[in-house]
Amino acid sequence: MTDDTTPPLIEARHVSRRFGAKPDLAAKIAIKLGLAKPPSTVHALDDVSLSIRKGEVVGLVGESGCGKSTLGRVIAGILDPSEGQIVWKGRDRSALGASERRASALATQMIFQNPMAALNPRMTIEDIVSEAPLTHGLVPKGERREYVDRYLQFAGFDPALKNRYPHQFSGGQRQRVNIARALAVQPDFLVCDESVAALDVSIQAQVINLFMELRERLDLTYLFVSHDLGVVEHISDRVAIMYLGRIVEEAPVEEVFQRPNHPYTQALLSEIPRIELTKRQFKAIQGELPSPLNPPKGCHFHPRCPFAMERCRTEAPMKVEVAPSHWSACHLNTPSETEAHPAKR
Ligand code: SF4
Repeated sequence: MTDDTTPPLIEARHVSRRFGAKPDLAAKIAIKLGLAKPPSTVHALDDVSLSIRKGEVVGLVGESGCGKSTLGRVIAGILDPSEGQIVWKGRDRSALGASERRASALATQMIFQNPMAALNPRMTIEDIVSEAPLTHGLVPKGERREYVDRYLQFAGFDPALKNRYPHQFSGGQRQRVNIARALAVQPDFLVCDESVAALDVSIQAQVINLFMELRERLDLTYLFVSHDLGVVEHISDRVAIMYLGRIVEEAPVEEVFQRPNHPYTQALLSEIPRIELTKRQFKAIQGELPSPLNPPKGCHFHPRCPFAMERCRTEAPMKVEVAPSHWSACHLNTPSETEAHPAKR
């Protein structure tokens, strides 16, 4: 368990990430002469800051296309930010030397949604789990079998089956192999990107319980990326809610569920069937997520927000602390605007 004084293991500081085709020289000249349009740019992340303390489990939640997987990949080191910094144990990751960078990369592992796509179908389970530890010198060749058995057991997979191939197993068993492969390089930090979304509900519960056991056993830290608030509730200490490339609310998990502040979080909660919310139903979310090619100005949520005001269309709200460790980015938290809309809460 962590407290507020535990230093961050990893931080995203003012991270933006854009995707777009880079024009070649001819295209640049054509754009300059007004003969061609500049290529479209996807604004996947817009000035995102998030810190994760050692031993903590942070849930990152939002609709499909909101940028949460991009943030997970940037934090995991698979993508570089367009702007901003990723700080690993207090140091800018882009400024680390080669050996420190390698250690940071090994210490951060990612577990993806589709367990089959993440496994090489031509390799046995033993080869899959032992490949990276052998490459990085974490285990001598002669001890490889015992080493693989140990990490398969950690992941709840029977080591007697290690000479088989991925297609011979169910989705849940394949995800356990992915978990064993990630653990075999002895990481500190796991980024789980929709890691249980493709599994049956009963298997989801087993894999979530496994993540929790491993946290205690191996002193792990997690960023748990999901579209499902109900799933992250069971695993997270803290939850960050993301909407169209920005984090709009961040709080300890019980605060998010008992006192959601941001209208978008309230709308997400309305989609989870819960007995205790029947007396305080929030309105379900309306409309589609706008395109990240052309995000709405001001508060990105304003075209779908039942409380939108004139100011929301032009001015992006800043995050303010609405309760201890509970941050929300909504103009309704500004006193003058709250007075203007007394009916909101
Ligand atoms: Fe709604 Fe305005 Fe708050 Fe955005 S800033 S969530 S549009 S009230």
